[in-house]
Amino acid sequence: MQDIIEILKEHNIAPSMQRVKILEYLQNNRIHPTADIIYQALMDEIPTLSKTTVYNTLNAFIEKGILVALSLFENEVRYEYNTDPHIHFKCSICGKIYDLDKSYDLYKDDFIDGHKVTEHHVNLKGICKNCVKPTTRSTQRLPEIAKRKITKFHTLRS
Ligand SMILES: [Zn+2]
Ligand SMILES: [Zn+2]
Repeated sequence: MQDIIEILKEHNIAPSMQRVKILEYLQNNRIHPTADIIYQALMDEIPTLSKTTVYNTLNAFIEKGILVALSLFENEVRYEYNTDPHIHFKCSICGKIYDLDKSYDLYKDDFIDGHKVTEHHVNLKGICKNCVKPTTRSTQRLPEIAKRKITKFHTLRS
């Protein structure tokens, strides 16, 4: 808690209870939440909290460089701590967004055809390690009977 108050003070933001709680939530839940997820998570704890306050607070944090707003995959904005560039991977089954390869810096401060690159975003989509079922992989191996049928088919053709 003390750390969060310090972070806010360092960025010239008055540490009101609501701001502290919102930043604390983002620090403890590295899930790239939407403003709505943050609001839903804190509304019971802070009955005076409104969605407008959440949006205003998040925007203030972005202005001060504490957070970055991400438009990942859909037209919804998600928030995370301002960290080094990294690859985002979204699971199409559970919807979780993972941070991958934090050392990634392709084209960072580089020029491509004379264009100066200042930021880049790589978003991958797939099935996360928790949702990939072992059966998905094993079905790639054909059962013996199927192999025999294929052999027979080739024999007939040749
Ligand atoms: Zn998943
Ligand atoms: Zn991330």
